[in-house]
Amino acid sequence: MINAKAVLEEFKSSFGAIYSAYPSSIVTDNKSWFFLAKDDNKKYLFIIQSGESSGLSEEFEAKNIGTIKIGGSDFITVKAGLSSKNLKLLQQIFPYLKPSFCGLKPSFGTGDRLGIITPAHISSFGSRKIFPYLGQQSVRELDKTGRTWQEVISDTLWGVFEAGYKNRFGADADHVKKIEDLDAAIKHGFTMFTIDPSDFILTGADSQDKDRISKRYDSIPEKKEIEKLYLGKKITIGKKVLEFDLDSLKFVAASYFDAIKHVVKCYKFIEQNKKDNFDFEVSMDEIDSAIPPLAHIFIAGELQRNQVNFHNMALRYPGRWEKAVDYIGDIDQFRQELKMHAGIAKKFGPYKLSLHSGSEKFSVYKIFSEESDGLFHIKTSGTSWLESLRTIAVKEPDLFKNIYGFALKSYEQEKKSYHISTELSSIPDIGKFREDKFDHILDLKECRQILHVTFGAILTAVKNGNHIFRDSVYKTLLANETLHCKYITENIDRHLDLLDI
Ligand SMILES: [Zn+2]
Repeated sequence: MINAKAVLEEFKSSFGAIYSAYPSSIVTDNKSWFFLAKDDNKKYLFIIQSGESSGLSEEFEAKNIGTIKIGGSDFITVKAGLSSKNLKLLQQIFPYLKPSFCGLKPSFGTGDRLGIITPAHISSFGSRKIFPYLGQQSVRELDKTGRTWQEVISDTLWGVFEAGYKNRFGADADHVKKIEDLDAAIKHGFTMFTIDPSDFILTGADSQDKDRISKRYDSIPEKKEIEKLYLGKKITIGKKVLEFDLDSLKFVAASYFDAIKHVVKCYKFIEQNKKDNFDFEVSMDEIDSAIPPLAHIFIAGELQRNQVNFHNMALRYPGRWEKAVDYIGDIDQFRQELKMHAGIAKKFGPYKLSLHSGSEKFSVYKIFSEESDGLFHIKTSGTSWLESLRTIAVKEPDLFKNIYGFALKSYEQEKKSYHISTELSSIPDIGKFREDKFDHILDLKECRQILHVTFGAILTAVKNGNHIFRDSVYKTLLANETLHCKYITENIDRHLDLLDI
């Protein structure tokens, strides 16, 4: 009887000088064996099939690279690229290679800007009860890295295959602002859609302008209906009673009504175009001012009145939620506000509260998990990229030094699309670090922020038609995959260990 071990042993003895296989990936459909292996530059799908079995490999974009003997019989070895056609064929044989719906289970998203770290993320999730979103990318990140929805999904699925992961997981099309960005996300199999209507929200100083609020409020066609529904309404959350008077109703309706309409439009579009169940998140986290509880009630109420079946709500909470560093602000105030929001989410849902920019927000994880009573979704992404850079700092210090210099130069431009406070003047000169201690730079808050937001510029920088860093980054990470995986897994573990579920 041929087993996986025998297949991998024979493969190694015939092709081991060039390729090394990922034992975690090997699977069989009872006729052929499938697994991933890499050479110095790339990963490939290998199919080992008996000479007598049907022409399965002919359907794949692949080539026959020789015959090996296993248990006395001849087997053909086929090498295939990680193309989308090959992935589709593989999905037909192994249907678990597909993202799925999550619903109200506690969940955690791990973005992967490079498209290579899904197996490391999977090691972190292991047998934890939390539902993983292994694919998660925002439109902004797609723009910055030049990736597409299709690449995000297919990189995730190849990672799932490599790790031999057969449990359920999701894929989140994150921070989508325009309807036209949804089409491709639906087509390529995303299972969660995060709509960001922040362009329509009246926020910051604008929301303090009384004339502007009155004008906006008066222009709402459904004003009378809204007054009938909310004016004078008392809502008890825990020990607090909240009430809409005319001023507060005017404020929340003028601030959020257009945003709600936009979310409804996006939802209807997905509902009409997506055949399977999907998770839907409303994200209002990237605005200047914290969302008050009454506004939350209004937003949830209006979405439900418009039959939007949302599962997650990402609010702008008090305090500062800067990328790549811990929460900055009053923890007790955050807990009190969160308590109210969690009460609202339970009373009007239940639905989950979502925490964005969740990388490194270690001081709030426990509070978030406790107050939401397990009804939460958390998104992280950027600090996996910092762990990739740590691998480069340790293994290729010269490359790291060049990347760091470039990041400093690009920072002023790149920070514009983030809420971030680091000033270039606070950055230490790399000359102060010994070359074998460059990884210490990645422990400094200011440096983390700079390297975090300049990822797109670093990965897409071109000189004379060639990428300056991109290819060396991928090559270094492939050559040092075990260390890279260790750093990424340790980082995600630090996050997941704090979630008490
Ligand atoms: Zn966000």
